[in-house]
Amino acid sequence: MKPDALLFPAPKGLYCQHGDFYIDPVQPVERALITHGHSDHARAGHGHVLATRETLDIMRLRYGDDFCGASDVARFGETISIGGVRVRFHPAGHVLGSAQISVEADGTRIVVSGDYKRRPDPTCPSFEPVACDVFITEATFGLPVFHHPDDKGEIARLLQSLRQFPERAHVVGAYALGKAQRLIALIRQQGYDEPIHIHGALARLCEYYQSQGIDLGDIRPATLGPENRQDLAGAIVLGPPAAFAERWARRFADPLAIFASGWMLIRQRAKQRGVELPLVISDHCDWAELTATIREIAPAEVWVTHGREEALVRWCQLQGIPARPLHLVGYDDEGE
Ligand SMILES: [Zn+2]
Repeated sequence: MKPDALLFPAPKGLYCQHGDFYIDPVQPVERALITHGHSDHARAGHGHVLATRETLDIMRLRYGDDFCGASDVARFGETISIGGVRVRFHPAGHVLGSAQISVEADGTRIVVSGDYKRRPDPTCPSFEPVACDVFITEATFGLPVFHHPDDKGEIARLLQSLRQFPERAHVVGAYALGKAQRLIALIRQQGYDEPIHIHGALARLCEYYQSQGIDLGDIRPATLGPENRQDLAGAIVLGPPAAFAERWARRFADPLAIFASGWMLIRQRAKQRGVELPLVISDHCDWAELTATIREIAPAEVWVTHGREEALVRWCQLQGIPARPLHLVGYDDEGE
């Protein structure tokens, strides 16, 4: 079967006609396969959802019990047949529950990687390379200029700042799903065992990660009030990026604004956000990791989606790998 007869971009998302299902559709559909819980990939209102147990749990936490009509759990490595199409989920290393989805029929296999990263992450299983005819890759950081430094070095800069400015609250912006929990786990890995204070918007997901056996240490609500006179000087306080826009961070002692994102490599972005200490920590691949992954998987063809599609397509073509952009709309990753 020709790959684009098996899976093709339709207005609602990547569509498999033979199995009559969509992958990460951006509008409600009858049958959806979901790679991970970030809101641009996992939307509410589908008739039936197939996803990992963790992704289903996360969707339930975010959207409520009636987030879809019915759901089924996909276990990593298990083959599920949908209308004669063989579907399998494999770890993507992006956030807890994140999966690549392999779609196979008549000897043709396409792997939809969703969002993925290659670095070790203490909060989720590592990306598993899967041999395939077509590898569909994201390209969020798909330009050679994107190089993410070592996570340990970035966390060390945060801990150094805490020692240097013990009178200031270190207020860190991090996306609620995945980034916040990974950041806490990375901080703990470096031996920091003081309480870490979190904004209410992070509480449920942090609790969920902990319920799944991920050790985040001593986490406390970042509440300030008459009954609670702490100003969190010298402490780490985590909040979602939106909370910074609401000036939430300003209530703490001489707050030092920190933001953890792959985009912090771009000084201008850090400046625009008023970030004093940018931490380049991403849940996506940088350029070297994207190209190394394509070399490792060695697919016959690469399709590129959301992000800097053209540069990665050109790189593939220069390597002699046929490639094309998918131009899917509606993905603006919340968790970069
Ligand atoms: Zn994502």
